[in-house]
Amino acid sequence: MSLIRRGITVAAMAASLVSAPAARAQTPKRLALVGGMLVTGYEVPPIHRAAVLVEGNKIVAAGPAAEVKIPADAIVVDTSGRAMLPGLIETHGHLIVLGHGSYDTWFPWIKAHGGDAMLTRVMEISAKQLLMAGVTTTIDLGAPLQPILSMRDRISRGEASGTRLFVSGPWISRGAGGAMQDGFGGINISTPEEAAQQTEKLAVAGVDHIKAHAGLTLDDYKAIVGAAHKHRIRVFAHVYAERDVRNALEAGVDVLQHVGSAGTAPPYSKDLITEIVNAGRPVVVTAAHRAWIYQDTADFPERLQDPDLRKAFGPDIYAEVQDSLKNWWTLGYFQRTDREMLYRERGVKQFIESGAVMGMGTDSGTPMNFHSEALWREIKVHVDMGMTATRAIAAATRVNAQIIGKGRELGSIEPGKIADIIVVNGNPLFDITALSHVEVVVKDGVVYKGGPATGSRSSAFVPGSAGSATGGARGER
Ligand SMILES: [Zn+2]
Ligand SMILES: [Zn+2]
Repeated sequence: MSLIRRGITVAAMAASLVSAPAARAQTPKRLALVGGMLVTGYEVPPIHRAAVLVEGNKIVAAGPAAEVKIPADAIVVDTSGRAMLPGLIETHGHLIVLGHGSYDTWFPWIKAHGGDAMLTRVMEISAKQLLMAGVTTTIDLGAPLQPILSMRDRISRGEASGTRLFVSGPWISRGAGGAMQDGFGGINISTPEEAAQQTEKLAVAGVDHIKAHAGLTLDDYKAIVGAAHKHRIRVFAHVYAERDVRNALEAGVDVLQHVGSAGTAPPYSKDLITEIVNAGRPVVVTAAHRAWIYQDTADFPERLQDPDLRKAFGPDIYAEVQDSLKNWWTLGYFQRTDREMLYRERGVKQFIESGAVMGMGTDSGTPMNFHSEALWREIKVHVDMGMTATRAIAAATRVNAQIIGKGRELGSIEPGKIADIIVVNGNPLFDITALSHVEVVVKDGVVYKGGPATGSRSSAFVPGSAGSATGGARGER
């Protein structure tokens, strides 16, 4: 805004002052989060009684509160007694689904209840759920092209409130290509040439990355990677079987997603794991969404009626989702769960123990895997399987930012980075489920959850009092 202002006449400037105070154009707004423990996103000990200073949308200082000078005009959020972390990054989300039990009935239900308008509403709900759960950035890996591009752009222009999006649009596959069909999931190809053409088309249309499904040939993966890298965008593979993982690895796919997914395939051969580790190729296991979610729901089916879901969905969608989960243990999605339970622990440990580069993603939105909690559940599984809490948080923030190609802007709390910061109640390094208690969310320098009333100092701050999706100490953008 200030750059534009500089170029206009004094008269026009004077006129504009009527509607916009000069101060807004001159000085970037300053926000300070003060008092809590700071987990930076690096694998180092936390900083206690810390402060983070934000100017505009950037972090300008972070460290012990005694060493960070807070300007008098800064809006202060008191974070004492709690923990500050980088905004979480979800590397595998699906905004077009909300945890409904069956794609076969969910997509026809959307079509019968408003079509595109309902699809937009669903994506808006997902985007808000993610943001309120502290997920400031989400990689969407499978949605109709134009609707998801427009959702991404509306959020980035500030016309809708939600997680920052990077999107693939439809995935590229051979044959059925997974369950989300009927115009909602994939593009079918039958030759490598076609795979390259479709990749090219998606890149030109403006996607941020490509999703290559399982079941493609080595040459298909190579063609997709070649076409995508020409456009400087990355390829994420959706792979389970050892042969698919091997093909994707050899073809140069940038991130291997699912990779056995906690039991859908037996543990991989030692050779394959060694090759993945030696190549430094990142993996995102999406562990929790089947085998763990199933058990967690068996233990506590009440989670399906979380009042936050009712509030987020509205009565019509809530009723439809509830109806689909009535006999959730009979759902087709969970038909292989008995076998998955057998392998689930080894499936995750094989990567943790090998020293593979691990990001964090969840397949959020899939059956019973609600956007509001998918990521902390995934992180918890990794910690339960032996990953340190510090490494797991780094995986979900700094490492995720790197593997999606945004390592310079996102993923850690340090000067120069975009101000994506969350505050959780409790010490996540002691009990990782503290990540389920997100009380403050700052995205791009704007407070979306928690924070003080407009213009007030820290004394007026009541934790969790300003929990609306769009309200914020610094207004909407
Ligand atoms: Zn997938
Ligand atoms: Zn997926």
